[in-house]
Amino acid sequence: MSEFVMTIAGEAAPTEGTFGVRNPATGEVFAQAPECTRQQLDAAFDAAAKAARDWKADEAARRAVLLRAADVLLASGDQLAPVLTAEQGKPLGDAGIEVFASAIWSQYFANLEMANQVIQDDDSAYVELARRPLGVVAAITPWNFPLTLAFWKIAPALLAGNTLVLKPSPFTPLTTLKVGELLRNVFPPGVVNIVSGGDDLGAWMTTHPVPRKISFTGSVETGKKVALSAAPDLKRVTLELGGNDPAIVLDDADPANVASAIFAGAFNNNGQVCSAIKRVYVPEALYDDVVEGLAAHARAIKVGEGTEEGVKLGPINNEPQYERVKELVADALSHGATAVTGGKAMDRPGYFFEPTILTGLSDGTRIVDEEQFGPALPVVSYRDLGDAIDRANATHFGLSGSVWSADPDRAAAVAAQLECGTAWVNTHLALAPQQPFGGFKWSGIGVENGPWGLAEFSEFQVVHRSKAPNGLNANTASLIS
Ligand code: NAD
Repeated sequence: MSEFVMTIAGEAAPTEGTFGVRNPATGEVFAQAPECTRQQLDAAFDAAAKAARDWKADEAARRAVLLRAADVLLASGDQLAPVLTAEQGKPLGDAGIEVFASAIWSQYFANLEMANQVIQDDDSAYVELARRPLGVVAAITPWNFPLTLAFWKIAPALLAGNTLVLKPSPFTPLTTLKVGELLRNVFPPGVVNIVSGGDDLGAWMTTHPVPRKISFTGSVETGKKVALSAAPDLKRVTLELGGNDPAIVLDDADPANVASAIFAGAFNNNGQVCSAIKRVYVPEALYDDVVEGLAAHARAIKVGEGTEEGVKLGPINNEPQYERVKELVADALSHGATAVTGGKAMDRPGYFFEPTILTGLSDGTRIVDEEQFGPALPVVSYRDLGDAIDRANATHFGLSGSVWSADPDRAAAVAAQLECGTAWVNTHLALAPQQPFGGFKWSGIGVENGPWGLAEFSEFQVVHRSKAPNGLNANTASLIS
């Protein structure tokens, strides 16, 4: 049996089957994760359905539980961060920040207002708009920020009065399983069930008859499958999918400054962020200076095992993703691009790739058009700003983007023309729990975070109290008189 155990109905749910989890810094299997059976998934949804009635009845209790969950997370950073680093690859400090952010999200939703809205109050009626829970939520997360993205779902789903079954990625199931264990005595039994398994388990969840809502974060390809499997049962969906974020540098920007901030926005989590900068558009006059600034950071940054002191970039999380980054960079180089830095895998065990800055390429090259999701950044030059905006928008993606200029108003006017869910000015990756986050086009459906994200875990209900003594209203009165 694995030391990592699923949580179903508030209890440890051991499995006979397990699967190996690899440390991306070595490529070796270092732990076993439980393989959930169909019967156990049924049991998890059953427990969530049974828990839903009491859970939705007491809002104050829900808020208190979310605050206690945050306290447990804050007290468990030292225990959780090493597990996260081992399975995900990110530096230990970043893993600690991820645990901390998960607690912040839990606290934010614990304190978020959820009052009914009065939409009519006159002689004839008092009408309120309420939000009612959906019931059971199926939550599915990816491998780049397994814990924070789990809490983007757990916290609002629970505050809204739902219960939940959550499945982490098979590449990074361990931290989430551990959190399930740590919170077994915090959440009432059945309110949060944590299961683990392969992609099939995700498909079983989205076709299961119990959940009324699927909250999914992952790739566009899988998101489309999730939407298809939700349709026959009209399950509600929130889909947070991939991105190919453009950064547009304007001709008045300071090249050294923007190069630093753009490097940070592109290489955060080794480029494995849905809304990382994935292509940069730079005016010809600034091109060499911006490229040199980016390259200087790429050369200087320390790459290595997440447990090693001073390391800022870890390995790519998993072999398929590592192969994909290698393939996209090789494709760019074979089409005439230059790797100013990097350009190849590192000669060491694990899934390490050199921080790579690519020049001499344009739209129409795969690494510019597709989501690379790794430490390789194409820098494209432009002559005409209108053309750069068109190229930034000429994609199925629409998650976020940024515009960089000495004149924030000018940059904001350009940002307003970007077809994406978040348009940053002179920064990138500034995410916060109160800010709705979601994508245009193929980058998703719906949003997470803020009151808008909370609303997606509920249905509208109009509560209309008539003040007419006979119960008739403007629409029904004519039949009786
Ligand atoms: P993925 O789509 O391969 O997997 C995501 C999750 O879906 C995993 O838990 C996986 O097991 C599960 N899954 C796979 N097939 C399934 C199916 N048929 N039905 C249901 N579930 C299934 O994505 P990934 O490789 O883990 O993550 C990387 C992607 O996630 C990137 O495209 C990235 O941009 C995106 N992402 C988006 C956001 C956002 O908020 N928009 C955040 C993080 C990552």
